[in-house]
Amino acid sequence: MEKVGAVLVIGGGIAGIQTSIDLADSGYKVYLAESTTSIGGVMSQLDKTFPTNDCAICILAPKLVQTGRHENIDILINSSIEKIEGVPGNFKVDLTQRTLRLDQIKCTGCGLCAQQCPIEAIDFFNERLSINAAISVKFPQAVPLVFSINKEKCIGCGICKGICKAKAIDYELQDKLISLDVGAVVLAIGFDEYDPTPLTEFGYGKHLNVITSIEFERILSASGPHSGLIIRPSDGIIPKKIAFLHCIGSRDRKHRIDYCSSVCCMYTTKEAVIAKEHMNIIEPTIFTMDIRAYGKDFDKYIERAKDEYGVRYIRRRISSIKEIPDSKDLKVYYETGNGKIIVEIFNLVVLYVGMQPNQ
Ligand SMILES: Cc1cc2nc3c(=O)[nH]c(=O)nc-3n(C[C@H](O)[C@H](O)[C@H](O)COP(=O)(O)OP(=O)(O)OC[C@H]3O[C@@H](n4cnc5c(N)ncnc54)[C@H](O)[C@@H]3O)c2cc1C
Ligand code: SF4
Ligand code: SF4
Repeated sequence: MEKVGAVLVIGGGIAGIQTSIDLADSGYKVYLAESTTSIGGVMSQLDKTFPTNDCAICILAPKLVQTGRHENIDILINSSIEKIEGVPGNFKVDLTQRTLRLDQIKCTGCGLCAQQCPIEAIDFFNERLSINAAISVKFPQAVPLVFSINKEKCIGCGICKGICKAKAIDYELQDKLISLDVGAVVLAIGFDEYDPTPLTEFGYGKHLNVITSIEFERILSASGPHSGLIIRPSDGIIPKKIAFLHCIGSRDRKHRIDYCSSVCCMYTTKEAVIAKEHMNIIEPTIFTMDIRAYGKDFDKYIERAKDEYGVRYIRRRISSIKEIPDSKDLKVYYETGNGKIIVEIFNLVVLYVGMQPNQ
């Protein structure tokens, strides 16, 4: 059997990107297949990253560009794997590359089309907290920097086609079937956040001011729905008191994620500190089962949050949240060590949802 000196990496998050760069630098041909329209994954949605609190896109963008320009890497966006057959050293892979309804090679990413498109669509990169056009790019630093047409939303008015100087738009372009020969396959498909809707005691989806951690991350981000201004969904008011609830759906047998997601304790602390820096939130309060600061010196990060930023950690599980009808503030119920029930009012509650294997 002939061994093939090429590798298929499935998933273009930071794990798939770094794997591709390392393999390509070692001389392997790499096919990087990504199901969305850009590589970058969850890291591209983050504002800052613990433990250094560096800007996430500042770390990620050079890697995106390096991957996009590497002579040994072919990026296959908007792709789904159909079939993998063979043996280690020699696999045949069939994948479908879904059409963008424009020619990826011709599109310069200028964005004129999106400026003129009359139709609005939900911006999933911003976790549905803002809108974009029916023709859009996933995020400004996307690699490859190409636009795509949302087939469900597009009304076929033809404006984008008329305005595109590169003549990139072609509504008739069809999905492509691609066959690859590779010697190895790396799965780097990342994770899905747990959807907390079934946990009715927290009121997600019912109380407007109960949001998830990835939604809060987008709100914190300068490229997010409010340009980094922390305003709450119900009325656009800047929240003064925010509660951060750990282990929502994780470490919880009833909800199948019976393991620890391992990063939430740290990134909750990060989000609480950034919120305090941005908006001078009063005593950001983290409700926790226990703190799991896994990495070297990560505990110092927690201590700093307490000492320098006044982040309050309360070792309690929250039993229920109730909305105050007029103000839309939230009553958070928890028990003290001596069995007394305390009710504390917050303007915004953020749920730190568990991570589960990608669908
Ligand atoms: C709110 C939040 C804040 C965080 N903050 C921090 C932080 O401050 N510091 C830190 O170190 N970590 C943080 N993390 C964790 C960090 O985001 C993840 O560990 C990291 O992004 C995981 O990268 P990944 O490449 O494994 O997965 P992902 O980023 O999930 O990438 C997987 C990629 O695979 C693609 N894909 C999935 N299925 C398929 C398929 N079948 N075919 C093709 N492509 C597929 C997806 O579209 C995606 O692009 C945070 C996480 C969250 C949710
Ligand atoms: S499709 Fe045309 S107008 Fe739109 S970004 Fe690409 S080159 Fe610009
Ligand atoms: S054809 Fe579709 S994508 Fe293009 S401008 Fe009209 S609605 Fe927008």
